[in-house]
Parts: sequence; C-alpha cells; structure tokens
Amino acid sequence: MAGKTVVILGGGVGGLMTANSLRTLLPDRHRIMLVEKNSQHSLAASHLWVMSGDRDPADITRPIASLVRHGVELITSDVHGIDVSRAVVEVDSGSLSYDFLVVALGAEMAPELVPGLPAAHTFYTLDGAVRLRDSLRQFPGGTVAVVVSSVPYKCPGAPHEGAMLIADTFRRRGMRDRVDMHLFTPEPQPMPVAGPELGDAVRSMLDSSGVGFHPGHKLKEVISEKGELVFEGKEPVKCDLLVAIPPHRGPTLARESGLANETGWIPVDPATLRTKHDNVYAIGDATTIAIPGRWKLDVPLNLPKAGVFAHCQADVVARRIAAEINGSPASETFAGDGYCVLEAGGRMAGFAFGDFLATPQPKVQMRNLGRSWHVGKVLFEKWWLAPYGLRRSLLRAAITMGARAVGIPVHL
Ligand SMILES: Cc1cc2nc3c(=O)[nH]c(=O)nc-3n(C[C@H](O)[C@H](O)[C@H](O)COP(=O)(O)OP(=O)(O)OC[C@H]3O[C@@H](n4cnc5c(N)ncnc54)[C@H](O)[C@@H]3O)c2cc1C
Repeated sequence: MAGKTVVILGGGVGGLMTANSLRTLLPDRHRIMLVEKNSQHSLAASHLWVMSGDRDPADITRPIASLVRHGVELITSDVHGIDVSRAVVEVDSGSLSYDFLVVALGAEMAPELVPGLPAAHTFYTLDGAVRLRDSLRQFPGGTVAVVVSSVPYKCPGAPHEGAMLIADTFRRRGMRDRVDMHLFTPEPQPMPVAGPELGDAVRSMLDSSGVGFHPGHKLKEVISEKGELVFEGKEPVKCDLLVAIPPHRGPTLARESGLANETGWIPVDPATLRTKHDNVYAIGDATTIAIPGRWKLDVPLNLPKAGVFAHCQADVVARRIAAEINGSPASETFAGDGYCVLEAGGRMAGFAFGDFLATPQPKVQMRNLGRSWHVGKVLFEKWWLAPYGLRRSLLRAAITMGARAVGIPVHL
C-alpha cells in the first residue's frame, strides 16, 4: 500500500497529541506533518502560576521540537491557506498535499472587539501573565475586577481560578484586606455547561476566597481614564485594576476556507470530529459542538473549549485516521468526558469531572478542595512539558495510577 500523508495544522494541545498518537499508530511509510507557527510551546494552564509568581515563563515553555515524537515532520511555518477542494494547504515554503487533514488551530483573541479593552490586563497570554504578575506586585490596594468579556472562551474554570489566585497573591503579601475582588461574567452562573450544582460549588469556592461573583454582566466598554467598566443595562462599575478574558473568535483560516459556520467556529460531528469535507477533521478550541436538550439558559450551551477535550478528541481522530489508512473499521468515538482542576490558592484545588455532553443534564461531579488535586495538576504540567523518554513515561504512570486509585478516569 502506498504511503499516505496526514497534515495537522496547529501544534498546540490537540495538534501535538494527534501527531504523536498517529506516529505510534502508523508505520513509518505514512507521513505525519505538523505545521505550527511558533517554535516554542507554553502550557496555558500554567499561565496562572506565572501570574501568581509561582513559575517563570521558562519553567512552562519548551521548544516544540522536544515535544514531538521521532518521525513526526515538524514544519515551523504559518499556515496561509487551506483548499479543501484540492486537498492542499499553503505554508511558507509552498503547498502541502494531504490525504487526511486535522485542523487544530485553536481560538484567536480579539480584545479590540470591546472598546477600551486592549489596554486591560489578561492572563490568557504568556506575555499578559508576566505583565499582570508585575502589576500585582506593585498594586497598592483597591478594587480588582476580573471580567469575562464574552462567551465562548477557553477553559470555563480559568476566570474563577484566576480571581482566586489573584486574591491569594494579596493574602500572601499580607494585604488581602486592602483589596476588593470581583468577578463579572455574562453567564448566569459559574461554568453553566457543567450544571447548577457545580455552579453552586464554584460559587462557594469564590465566596471562601472573598471574591464577589456577578453573573449576567455583559461588558460593553472600558473607559480607562475614569477606571470605569460599562456593562449592558447595568450601572457603571469602578475598578483600579482590570483583568480581562478577551473575546475569542474562530481561526481566520477556518473562516476563509469555508470550514467555519456563521459563528466563525468549525462545526464537527460530535462523535467522530469529522467536518463536512471528506478526510478533514477538526478538534479542540477551533470547533463548535452544540449540546442539545439542556435546561434553558440565556447563553448558548456548547462543549467548553478546554485542553482536556482537545486532548481526548486528538486521540479519537488519530485512531480513526489510522483505522481508515489501515483499512479497518473506525470505531473510536468522542464521548464528552472531561475533568477540570480548579486552583483556589494556598496550593489547594477543587476537582470537577464527568460527562459534559450528557443530556438533559451534564453528569459532572465536584470533589472537595484538597491538596492532592493541586499536586495532580503540577504532575500533569511536568508530564506535558517533559521530553520523550523515561521521565515522561514515569510521570504518565504516576498520574494514571494516582487517578485510578481515587476512581477518576484520567487518560493521557
Ligand atoms: C489561562 C488558561 C488556563 C487554562 N487552563 C486549562 C486547564 O486547566 N485545563 C484545560 O483542559 N484547559 C485549560 N485551558 C484551555 C486550553 O489551553 C485550550 O483549550 C487548549 O490549548 C486547546 O487546544 P487546541 O489544540 O485546540 O488549541 P491551542 O492549544 O491553542 O493550539 C493552537 C495552535 O495553533 C497554532 N496556530 C494558530 N494559527 C496558526 C497559523 N495560521 N499557522 C500555524 N499555526 C497556527 C497556534 O500557534 C497554537 O499553537 C486554559 C487556557 C488558558 C488560556
């Protein structure tokens, strides 16, 4: 059989996992090409620890080449175009033809969509987390607002973790009583997609950290000169330090190539991750997967954008493509199981896990705050950033065994 070529666009969480899994599943005569514009990868979940001063950027950043399996062809280049009709993508050095394409281009940040927002702090980028860390160190006291500017956004837990970790940095500096902390979001409750009970659990974590939670607040404008946040239909709110979760949008390339729908995200079959085009899959943050039949809320309920889902979807897609190439039936499907460690500060964390796609209600449970969840997240960070070899294998075994011991289906 002639060798096939699988091209993967985007070397973040989903793209790296897809490329590495495929390399273990397919013989060497099949080519696996991973196209990524950056030569360095930083783990986004750890941006929060950069912000809190617990990590330096170098601690959470690795050359992408060290994270890909031997035999994956890493192409460090921008992707300039996708032509699904000709099965070709354009990169800096020319055209790449593919037999199978996996689009894992993530989400784009678009702070410019809200007037005044580009000047705000954010921990959603590594540079932003560094700048915010420095500003938190110099903050003399006052009101801090963490604002989710719109939905959807990456990682439904991150704004809550961010607010609690910021509160914790002030506690560690002995000035918590001089800082008033608030979290604003257009959503009706914390993490609505995980159900009302989980929302209550996260709310009580925020309460314990002294973070005021303000649902139903849709940000319209930031007037920096006055230190004022303007929300739709609400009184303006004053703050001294604004930390924003900027608006997100689907990848420009997905829109330009016709892969995206009217929302700008790529619709996929929820079970197979296949797009409307033959042999073209999409995974992770770039996609949109609606969850039908949920209780009524005023925000659209889609599968959250989270690394854990990109990771599982990558595995499904790799197995399906490998089965198709090997001529065996492709049976692997994505089930919507996921988990989320919510850092609360003081090296404590909560843990939510379950089936996010279950209908009519999600089946997501929350475990009590504990140090072990924090340790689990640290171990995951070490595993993700470790080069291939003994250390990575040992970390994987430790995480999987630890998770099994407490009855949690973690799959790395
Ligand atoms: C602060 C923060 C905390 C988070 N915490 C968690 C957590 O605890 N748990 C969790 O599950 N998730 C978490 N997430 C979310 C998680 O990081 C994302 O959901 C995950 O990275 C999505 O993977 P992806 O492969 O879809 O996209 P990404 O990982 O974003 O990868 C997309 C890749 O495509 C590349 N790319 C884009 N355009 C081009 C182009 N034109 N040419 C070439 N390359 C391109 C990008 O450079 C990038 O490397 C967090 C996110 C943030 C911001």
